[in-house]
Amino acid sequence: MIIVIKQGSPEKQVNNLISWIETQGVRVHVSHGEYNTIIGLIGDTAKIDADLVEGLEIVETVKKISEPFKKANRKFHPEDTVIDVGGVKIGGGNFCMIAGPCSVESEEQILEIASSVKRSGALMLRGGAFKPRTSPYDFQGLKAEGIDLLLEAKRETKMPIVTEILNINHLDLFEDVDIIQVGARNMQNFELLKELGKTKKPILLKRGLANTMKELLMSAEYIMAGGNEDIILCERGIRTFETFTRNTIDLSAVPMLKELTHLPVVVDPSHSTGMSKLVKPMSLAAAACGADGLMIEVHNNPARALCDGAQSLTPAQFDDVAKSVNKVLEVVKG
Ligand code: PEP
Ligand code: MN
Repeated sequence: MIIVIKQGSPEKQVNNLISWIETQGVRVHVSHGEYNTIIGLIGDTAKIDADLVEGLEIVETVKKISEPFKKANRKFHPEDTVIDVGGVKIGGGNFCMIAGPCSVESEEQILEIASSVKRSGALMLRGGAFKPRTSPYDFQGLKAEGIDLLLEAKRETKMPIVTEILNINHLDLFEDVDIIQVGARNMQNFELLKELGKTKKPILLKRGLANTMKELLMSAEYIMAGGNEDIILCERGIRTFETFTRNTIDLSAVPMLKELTHLPVVVDPSHSTGMSKLVKPMSLAAAACGADGLMIEVHNNPARALCDGAQSLTPAQFDDVAKSVNKVLEVVKG
């Protein structure tokens, strides 16, 4: 249920209403927008008489929210959430390009890639230190050393860093990481999500390989229910019967999610196609359909990459993609 408060209502009366709702055992989420204050009710609202509330002088309207996601729901929070990472913004019209290798492999590799993607306009650096690999015999990432190398690249380039967490016991290692990524394989690791809900760091939540948009939003809700509301959703392709591409990119998820939620939505054209030649057209399409950013894998020597070389762009290819994406963004903005 949401209660829309009339513009200019006395704060004291609004606070009285909030206190009364809380005494009924219902939690509230208050959103102060440019035009309206919205009180979102979370929990069992059976005891709240909607007609009675609607009759109050300060109340404009009362609406029932049928969706199971509340804090992530745009009806609770009509304005776009803007996530600000040390001055780099994402959401609400701020398009953010995140680029970097699938995995951090060496000091030389990450520093070279970081400086080149920055020159091309990337605002954040990605790189896996803990890698969720299908085979236990494949490269599993440099782990703590990988995070140290990302931090070195952050110091050199001043770019915020994004890296994936696999195990909540590693959280201490992420203290200076700017955005914690939850990968597709962990999208429904509810215990991990609950623990991340207690942190103050923005979370980049990737859609699971076989998950619906509703399930993605419910996973975001798990994190938000714990108090951490800085979440970036990421469409990274889903499993279908198609086998030419690694996954099937679901770009319709971008406008659909943006209607359902206020959270920023980015697209990962690398994992969703698995082929470097498809990264540019899908990046342009993602920018055209309203994505708030892109996360693209870039390697200084894709043929020798320890992970995901086939989908990685060279720095020169990334530069070309970034320039073309900017042209699309100009057109979209009108
Ligand atoms: C990644 O971004 O490095 C990754 C493993 O992606 P996903 O979880 O989408 O497969
Ligand atoms: Mn990868």
